[in-house]
Order: sequence, then C-alpha cells, then structure tokens
Amino acid sequence: MSKRDRLERQALEIILSKGEEGILQSDLWKELEASSRVGSRISLNLGKKNLITRQRELYDGRWTYRVFINIRSLDIDSITDVPCVSCAEILKCESGGEFSPDTCKIMTEWLHTFTHTEMEKENASVISKKNAPQSI
Ligand code: SF4
Repeated sequence: MSKRDRLERQALEIILSKGEEGILQSDLWKELEASSRVGSRISLNLGKKNLITRQRELYDGRWTYRVFINIRSLDIDSITDVPCVSCAEILKCESGGEFSPDTCKIMTEWLHTFTHTEMEKENASVISKKNAPQSI
C-alpha cells in the first residue's frame, strides 16, 4: 500500500470515528501527523472520490473546513462483520506492530467494501426519496 493510500485510509477511519460532528481539517492533520499541504491533498482526493464532504466553517476568527464522512446511516449491524472481531491476532494487533491496522490487507479490503456498500445504501436512499410521491 502506498503512503498516500495509507494516509487516506487513516483519514477515513478518523473522520468516520468523529460521526456526525465531523472534524476540523487542522485537527485531522494533527491526528495524521501530516503537513497542511499533504493533508489538503488527502482531503481533496477523498472529496473527489465522494467519500467525504467539506463544509466551510469560521473557527477562532479564521475560515477553515470541517470534514464529514459521506455515510449517514451507520448502525451496529453494518459493522458486526469487521474482521477484527474474529481475528486470532487481535490481542497482538497495534499500530506499528507485527500485526497492525496500518498494514492489514484484510482490514483494508473490508474497509473498501464497507465504504462502498454504505455509499450504495446512501445513494439508494437519496434516489428513493427523489422518486417518492409528493404529498399535497
Ligand atoms: S487489523 Fe487485521 S490483524 Fe489487526 S485485528 Fe483487525 S483483522 Fe486482525
């Protein structure tokens, strides 16, 4: 996995963990330990892939962006198949370790599938609402 892919995946995990509150871009860069230049590129790439939404916000007198994951309706059923739940290495798994979410191919594949599935659900919901009969 390239460094950029790894940072994008970490960014998605962080943004996902912030739920509906989202996270300020500057705080995301700090958590990623990335420069604002690298962080902005990651943010733009994730936005182009329609995985996140950037919302302009005035914070401490300066304009910045708050970013949100483009998954609106997570429920517990949607994450019960996370591979870590049944992984034999879970007790040894830590960032930077022999087993790590940063390098785990199973986790990466699950995250991609999960993200795409949730996006498809979201898109189906939007289409369904658009096609719903209008009440008078
Ligand atoms: S990230 Fe991978 S290695 Fe670590 S617990 Fe989850 S599935 Fe197992």
